[in-house]
Amino acid sequence: MSILVVGEQRDGALNQMSLETLAAARQMGVQLNLPVHAALFGKGAAQAAAALPAAVTVIEHPLLESYTADAASLAVRQLIEKLSARVVLFPHTYQVRDYAPKLATSIDRVLVSDVIAHQVDGAALTLVRQLFHGKVNAAVRFTGEPPFFASLQAGAYRADTLQAAPASVEGFTPQIAPEQVRSRPLELFRESARAVDLSAADIIVSVGRGIKDPENLPLIEQLAKALNAEIAASRPICDNGWLPMERQVGSSGQTVAPKMYMAIGISGAIQHLVGMKGSKIVVAINKDPEAPIFEIADYGIVGDLFQVVPALIEALKK
Ligand SMILES: Cc1cc2nc3c(=O)[nH]c(=O)nc-3n(C[C@H](O)[C@H](O)[C@H](O)COP(=O)(O)OP(=O)(O)OC[C@H]3O[C@@H](n4cnc5c(N)ncnc54)[C@H](O)[C@@H]3O)c2cc1C
Repeated sequence: MSILVVGEQRDGALNQMSLETLAAARQMGVQLNLPVHAALFGKGAAQAAAALPAAVTVIEHPLLESYTADAASLAVRQLIEKLSARVVLFPHTYQVRDYAPKLATSIDRVLVSDVIAHQVDGAALTLVRQLFHGKVNAAVRFTGEPPFFASLQAGAYRADTLQAAPASVEGFTPQIAPEQVRSRPLELFRESARAVDLSAADIIVSVGRGIKDPENLPLIEQLAKALNAEIAASRPICDNGWLPMERQVGSSGQTVAPKMYMAIGISGAIQHLVGMKGSKIVVAINKDPEAPIFEIADYGIVGDLFQVVPALIEALKK
């Protein structure tokens, strides 16, 4: 019995959420007294395995070179059987959303998706996931026999808590017949050249409707430059076309977990908070002392952003 983390990589580059999933698995492993294994598949998996501080199994098969849900679910299922995995954890990525429910249902199990926390009581594992755009937290417990499947929300667990651990890499070749793969992979979807991966940013300066006019955005850009930060925004800013959609943070935008998230002129609506509450430090600048963003902020500045931001830029330049 073990906990299996099925990570994700593309062309040898590990998806950082795999490390968060490993961090969660380690916590559960201590609490449930189970060893933790990790697995990767797809072209470049052996290279990406080096970035995962764990006992990693690289699932190797020519039919895994280009991703398909059919091949991925068949392959991971065979590894689960080989390792007698009790709990199988995935990062809640688009790819996982594609194949993990198929894998779980293929052995008559469910996938508890987008988990934000867990509790262990004896040998019982309780998972917490959000409903209604984060307004309600639901505690979910598995019934029946393992394996139990769950995917973890980006930023819910911190990868920087991962302790160094003995790492090893071994191979595993599953049995997959060509006729079992019913879809034909085409070229991977690529976002426009301007697309940014905010989830990889260490510092994010995020701007909301408090900025009032797109002509004021250069002020935020100056601050972001001074902090070497990425710019993000709340939804109205992107809906208005003031910043590209790919910079939107929240339930219908990206989920981010930087070391520092600076929310400027953002009220802190729940749909925004669910996308950034995993940030290590939240700094909020808002002229309304009652703004909900202050409830989750580590540092809050109550004031007019048009006075506070220039002063911050000045101080940073010094
Ligand atoms: C289905 C659904 C999905 C959604 N998805 C998202 C999402 O992914 N991301 C998202 O962000 N929102 C999302 N929303 C919208 C969300 O509900 C809020 O409307 C939005 O987050 C508000 O953006 P805001 O904080 O920039 O604007 P506002 O709520 O208008 O807040 C502006 C803030 O700026 C402050 N302010 C004004 N002037 C100044 C000044 N001079 N100095 C300092 N502070 C100032 C105000 O006090 C206020 O707190 C979604 C909504 C729905 C229904």
